Amino acid sequence: MDKILRIDMGAEGGPKITSGEPGDYAGLAGRGMTSAIISKEVPPLCHPLGESNKIVIAPGLLSGSAAAQSGRISVGCKSPLTGGIKESNSGGQAAQVLGRLGYAAIVIEGKPKDDSLYKLIINKDGANITPDNSIKMLGNYDLIDKIKEEFGDKITCISIGPAGEMKMASASIAFTDMEFRPTRHAGRGGAGAVMGAKGVKVIVLDDTDMKMRQPKDPDKFKKANKSFVQGLKKHPVTGEGLPAFGTNVLTSIINEAGAFPTNNFSKGRFDGVAKISGETLAETESSRGGNPTHGCHKGCVIQCSGTFKDKDGQFLTKQPEYETIWAHGANCGIDDLDAIAQLDRLDDDYGIDTIEMGATIGVAMEAGIAEFGDADAAIKLVKEVGKGSDLGRILGSSHCQRPVNACI
Ligand code: SF4
Repeated sequence: MDKILRIDMGAEGGPKITSGEPGDYAGLAGRGMTSAIISKEVPPLCHPLGESNKIVIAPGLLSGSAAAQSGRISVGCKSPLTGGIKESNSGGQAAQVLGRLGYAAIVIEGKPKDDSLYKLIINKDGANITPDNSIKMLGNYDLIDKIKEEFGDKITCISIGPAGEMKMASASIAFTDMEFRPTRHAGRGGAGAVMGAKGVKVIVLDDTDMKMRQPKDPDKFKKANKSFVQGLKKHPVTGEGLPAFGTNVLTSIINEAGAFPTNNFSKGRFDGVAKISGETLAETESSRGGNPTHGCHKGCVIQCSGTFKDKDGQFLTKQPEYETIWAHGANCGIDDLDAIAQLDRLDDDYGIDTIEMGATIGVAMEAGIAEFGDADAAIKLVKEVGKGSDLGRILGSSHCQRPVNACI
């Protein structure tokens, strides 16, 4: 991974692509790479949605190799939500593919001179960017279907939904998983709004004909990888709890400890916890033909993700994470897994962070906009965000600690 790909969206005559040596950033990867570039190149007082901000996407140090658990990806920018340097992390296939394509980072900078929406394609021959206004305001799921028609399904995508295009402060960046579904998200900090401000809707990654990155000493690498995998498999958390119940393994434990966010953080224990616990979630998924033990990218041996099917056995969304379960569940007084899964699907489709959205709806419920426990009302509120109505734009741009009514 010896190249940094830069796309200047504000260049004269349209977006300009350059690719070069990492220079000062040599040896950095993932979170270190994204935060170093933002810290060095983005003026601290710039507007997060202005031309001086940058969005940096960087795979991990070992991404693209055969190392287990090497497929996390980091996104960095000045956050429209906090105003600070934001690092948001995701799973999905993109890190492995970018690593094989030889890129240590993608940096998107500047601001387009018009309101066209762009599609960036990166493959073995380099990168190409083209305007495509037919994808404007598509949800992530429809977008991926459309991209599949054009490029097939042996690719990987990084994309934003309508929330990112509307530059909402809760907007996420979606990464497709092994089944080419936009289920993994860099959710925190509003990175999706920065990608929206750059006018980039989707990055298509195609590593056809690219080889896996090879270690300098294959024997030592193999030995180290083997002992790492054995350690993960032997550990009760990574070898048993996470594969069986996902991150939602935490729900019962944290509720018992009295620290489970409930009814807008006003309580630490939730009466309906048994209905939304990791144990119930795994049982529900298995009974409907879903899968509670699933990797979000190739080479994951922990397999804490899963697939959630609806009552008719149709795929609805990935297994909601612990954070989604408390934010959209207990924190809104909702003890219905199907409703939480539907909220998760809508969030992924619109491209919004589930923690931010659940916390905001909890505040809205406390403010009297809906009743705690009213799942239909919570779904309607998230749909307002997708529509970009006045209320939706307030909800989609609220910080979870800021009362909704303070913005009205
Ligand atoms: S499935 Fe879980 S453990 Fe595996 S890479 Fe994804 S987030 Fe990490």
